[in-house]
Amino acid sequence: MDAVIKALTKELDASKLLTGEAVKERYHHIWRMDVPLTAKAVVIPTTTEELSATLKICHAHDQPVVVHGGLTNLVGSTETNIEEVVISMEKFNTIQELDEKSRTMTVGAGVILENIQQAAKDVGLLFPLNFGAKGSAQIGGAISTNAGGLRVLRFGMTRQLVLGLEAVLADGTVISSLRKIIKDNAAYDVKQLFIGSEGTLGVITKAVLRLVEAPKSRCSAFIGINDYENVIKLLKFMDKGLAGTLSGFELIWDTTYETMTSPPAQAKPPLPHGYKYYVLVESLGSNQMQDQKALEGLLEYALRHEMIADAAIAYTYSDLEWFWKIREDVHILASQANHDQHFDISLPIPLIGDFIEETRTKLLAIPDVEKVFSFGHVADGNIHFIIGKKVQTEELIHQINEVIYKPLTAINGSISAEHGIGLHKKNYLHLSRSENEIALMRSLKVALDPKGILNRGKVF
Ligand SMILES: Cc1cc2nc3c(=O)[nH]c(=O)nc-3n(C[C@H](O)[C@H](O)[C@H](O)COP(=O)(O)OP(=O)(O)OC[C@H]3O[C@@H](n4cnc5c(N)ncnc54)[C@H](O)[C@@H]3O)c2cc1C
Repeated sequence: MDAVIKALTKELDASKLLTGEAVKERYHHIWRMDVPLTAKAVVIPTTTEELSATLKICHAHDQPVVVHGGLTNLVGSTETNIEEVVISMEKFNTIQELDEKSRTMTVGAGVILENIQQAAKDVGLLFPLNFGAKGSAQIGGAISTNAGGLRVLRFGMTRQLVLGLEAVLADGTVISSLRKIIKDNAAYDVKQLFIGSEGTLGVITKAVLRLVEAPKSRCSAFIGINDYENVIKLLKFMDKGLAGTLSGFELIWDTTYETMTSPPAQAKPPLPHGYKYYVLVESLGSNQMQDQKALEGLLEYALRHEMIADAAIAYTYSDLEWFWKIREDVHILASQANHDQHFDISLPIPLIGDFIEETRTKLLAIPDVEKVFSFGHVADGNIHFIIGKKVQTEELIHQINEVIYKPLTAINGSISAEHGIGLHKKNYLHLSRSENEIALMRSLKVALDPKGILNRGKVF
């Protein structure tokens, strides 16, 4: 028997260590459930101590490990090979404490994001992090990728919502700082190292999350616009007019909206097809009637002054569900071609309109590219592309990557706004980070994981 498996078998209950056929019953991504997992073994620890013991063994044996959360990432970061041991965080799934006075929630890393949102809601609080994969993504995965999503504009990225963290280093050392305090300048803020490092510096086991008071109102509207300058104008106009309550401002390009609201997609279009851009706004405020009126008033003004061409307001809860499901259900875009390639880039907001037009034209000129869908969190300067392709060759992947990533360096954009680097983008990291920055990152990696066992080959 393999020495690592032998040592792990000695350390762990049989139910916490899967080998052989049992490994193949699992998968590496929620969209690839039909592809059996390839790995030497899967460890399913239930406590920090068990995880620490597992990592000590792997470290001693120079055994590479890959951390599995909810498996919703879009950069290949949970892919594995037969030499790797998977550590699945699914059993760290308990909400340990909800402290209404401190407005914090202490959770295990394996708790599903939607369960955290619901628990906060049940006591009149809000955990603002929100994105389409909320029903599967774990908070540990969201922290490891510093996930962004639909409300960054108002509440920031995951980084801004984490007050305390517990993580286990590659050699099994436990670093625990589960404080509930907002201000803490006692030298380096070590927890930030683990946030957004994609499981390459340590395995997150617990977190203290920051909650805010739940809003008493939620208003949304779909808005049709015909030129990009007016999208920017509308963003400023809404942010000013809604006096701090604007929490979402999502942009969807024409063909993307048409696909999201035509069969086989189930949703009907709230606005007719034919506008160039569709903006979905959300405000979270304190009085439903008043806030709805305020939104209506702003939209009427924008319509009169030809900033917008059309608008549909959500009047009921089911309207809200309908509108947001359209935006969140991006899987329909990925299913339009045999193969898909995903992007999440960021660039200065004023440049987005032209950049997307030029990039779309270049992409559609590639013979094996069938579809180019663009949409995104435009208020954060973050746009997603989903490219539908006839074939899946390394050459085509690279050709598409070059078209999208190369121009970003000159305009100070980023190859990853929120999804991270994983396997898919590591060859392009130099387009967004300088040599010195990458060298510093490598030094940090060596300091925290000298044998390079954590998510080996990902990011660098
Ligand atoms: C439909 C859809 C919509 C999405 N929308 C958004 C969006 O709007 N914004 C956004 O930012 N992302 C979005 N994503 C991407 C994805 O949901 C996020 O990256 C999410 O945070 C990943 O969480 P996860 O639990 O699924 O992590 P996984 O996919 O399992 O893992 C992601 C990375 O984190 C590591 N990891 C997981 N758990 C831990 C842990 N406990 N400790 C250390 N490392 C760990 C993994 O090794 C891997 O490197 C979307 C994905 C889908 C499928």
